[in-house]
Amino acid sequence: MALLIDIKHPDWLTDEELRAELLPHCPGADIRIAADPGNADEIEMITVSGYEPGEALRYPNLKLIQKTGAGVNNILADPQLPAAVQVTRLDASNSGAEMAEYALAYVLQEQRHLRQYHQQQARSEWISYPPRKAAETTVAVLGLGRIGQLVAKRFVDNGFRAVGWSRGAKSLENVDCFSGEDGLHQALARSEYVISVLPSTPETRQMFNLELFRRFNPHSMLINVGRGDLVDEVELMRALDDGLLAGAVLDVMSKEPLPADHPLWLHPKIQLTPHISGYHLGDATLDIAENYRRLQSGEPLLHLVDRGRGY
Ligand code: NDP
Repeated sequence: MALLIDIKHPDWLTDEELRAELLPHCPGADIRIAADPGNADEIEMITVSGYEPGEALRYPNLKLIQKTGAGVNNILADPQLPAAVQVTRLDASNSGAEMAEYALAYVLQEQRHLRQYHQQQARSEWISYPPRKAAETTVAVLGLGRIGQLVAKRFVDNGFRAVGWSRGAKSLENVDCFSGEDGLHQALARSEYVISVLPSTPETRQMFNLELFRRFNPHSMLINVGRGDLVDEVELMRALDDGLLAGAVLDVMSKEPLPADHPLWLHPKIQLTPHISGYHLGDATLDIAENYRRLQSGEPLLHLVDRGRGY
């Protein structure tokens, strides 16, 4: 049984680097890289970050697609994905901690007016503003899964009030949890910051549209670290122009890399980063070796995705 590594993001992690990391954990394993895949019939597991529609069909005996990350929407969106192929993702504790740090960094930047001071420095202006108090600030975390819970905890630990929203009802310490459409509206109305850590599924795609932005507190900021297609980007710009919300931080966009002539780049109320909020996988990559072993022995796989649910 061969495992083929075909990440497709060499600027982030090369196939060779991941192979070198995995080999000591599965000595003697047949681990190949995309540059030299060998006989496709022998490949039963592939490890990808980027994924092309129909990619699974290149390997007639494919049993498992292992994502080198948490979001699997690009794989599940493939209409040609055979029903028998399983999809797994990675543990998100390392990248989730980084995403919590990212969200906190942007929130603190607003709380302490750091962007204004940066602009004022260019004009040699000495004007002060009172810091906003964490204890009087509410952060909504939409998506209370592996990463969303880490994000909510990070804000609670830093003295913020936190509310959360998920599909099923949840009970989390020091987080007021909501579910359902009414619950979402209640969470939005109470919050100065709205952090989206949702997966892209048929239910969540384009959910951030004008209708929902009308439910936002006009002083609030959206921080999207989930997936770009959760947001109707044209309607986001319109909502910002109309004052339905005050600003947006987008780590993920509908089209990545974002084309250089895209209007999101120049919108004065939008801050962009190139999909880096959860960057390092840490030891999570070792789960790839473990899933390779489990696939061979027929044991239950780690971090198996529910293909019907979409995450
Ligand atoms: P999980 O599967 O652990 O959690 C997903 C959460 O979203 C769950 O709480 C789930 O609710 C909730 N959810 C799903 N659908 C809905 C819905 N229709 N309505 C309300 N809530 C919903 O995912 P992770 O926390 O591991 O990852 C979340 C996402 O973060 C990934 O899918 C990926 O897109 C993104 N990501 C982005 C990265 C970046 O660098 N920007 C890096 C890593 C991940 P319930 O608990 O009830 O099931």
